Amino acid sequence: MSTPLRVLGKSGDGRSLPRTVRVRGVEFGGQRPTIIAGPCAVESRAQTLGIAHEVRAAGGDMLRGGAFKPRTSPHDFQGLGKEGLEILAAAREETGLPVVTEVLDVRDIELVSQYADMLQIGSRNMHHFPLLREAGRQKLPVLLKRAWCASLKEWLCAAEYIASGGNEQIVLCERGIRSFGNGEYDRNTLDLNVVQAVRRAVDLPVIVDPSHGTGFRDMVAGAALAGVAVGADGLIIEVIGRGTKRSEVLCDAEQGIGSDTLAGIVGASRRICAVRQQFERELTLEAEAEAS
Ligand code: PEP
Ligand code: MN
Repeated sequence: MSTPLRVLGKSGDGRSLPRTVRVRGVEFGGQRPTIIAGPCAVESRAQTLGIAHEVRAAGGDMLRGGAFKPRTSPHDFQGLGKEGLEILAAAREETGLPVVTEVLDVRDIELVSQYADMLQIGSRNMHHFPLLREAGRQKLPVLLKRAWCASLKEWLCAAEYIASGGNEQIVLCERGIRSFGNGEYDRNTLDLNVVQAVRRAVDLPVIVDPSHGTGFRDMVAGAALAGVAVGADGLIIEVIGRGTKRSEVLCDAEQGIGSDTLAGIVGASRRICAVRQQFERELTLEAEAEAS
C-alpha cells in the first residue's frame, strides 16, 4: 500500500497543511483574494519598475516577473537571469511589493532564493522531481503551477514532493490545460473545475492565472473574476506597462493587460469574493438546519 499523502491531511500525525500561506506581509487563503501582477518577463529596469509602480497603484499585493524564462524555442528571449533578479529586488525596494519569480533549474535555486520572496515552479517543471525536492528544502514559500497535462493527483503529488521535504508553504496555481482551439480563441483552457476540486481535496490555498489560462487580454478579466467566483484564493496576472508598444514586448505580448483593467479586477474580485463568502455562510446555515 502506498504511503498516505501529507497534502491530503493524511500524514502520520493527521495534520493538515496550512490553509493560509504568508509571503512577507501578504496572506494567501485569507478573507480576500490576493492579487499578484507584473510583466511576463523582466525585460529592463525601466519596464519592471514602471509596471511595479502601476501594480501597486492598482491595488496589487505582489509583483511577478520572470528572470529565467521557460521558452518553447531556445532561440527566443530566455530572461535576464541574475540581472533580472536584481531588477526585481529594486522594484520591491521601491514599491514594497513582495516578489515571486520562477526558478527553472536546481542549480539556480540558491541564487533565486537570495532575491525572491516566493519561488515559482512553472507548468513545464511541475514534473521535475529534483527541483520539487530542492524547493522542499527551502525556507521560501512556493507557488506551484499545474502542468498543462497534469491530473489533479499528479499536481497534488508534486506538492507532496515539496511538503515532504519540510516546506509546507505551498500555494497551488491553475494556469490552464491544453485544449483544442488551436489558438483561435484559447491558448489554454482555464480549468475552473479543478479549482473547486482542489478546495474539496486539500487545505492549501489555490490561485488562478487567467493570463496563460486564456492567452488573450480581452478575456483575462472575465476569467479572473470567474476564478474568484469558484473559490480561488487569488490571481496571478500579466501586465503591460503604460505607453509600451506591444510589438516591442519580448514575451507574451498579446495577453498583458493594462493597469486600469488590473485596478478594475482588484475591486471586482473583492466584491465577488464577499458575495461568495456570504453565499457559503447561507449554505452552511441551510445544511445545519437540515441536520438538526
Ligand atoms: C509564467 O507564469 O511566467 C509562466 C511561464 O507560466 P506557466 O509556467 O504557467 O506557463
Ligand atoms: Mn507569460
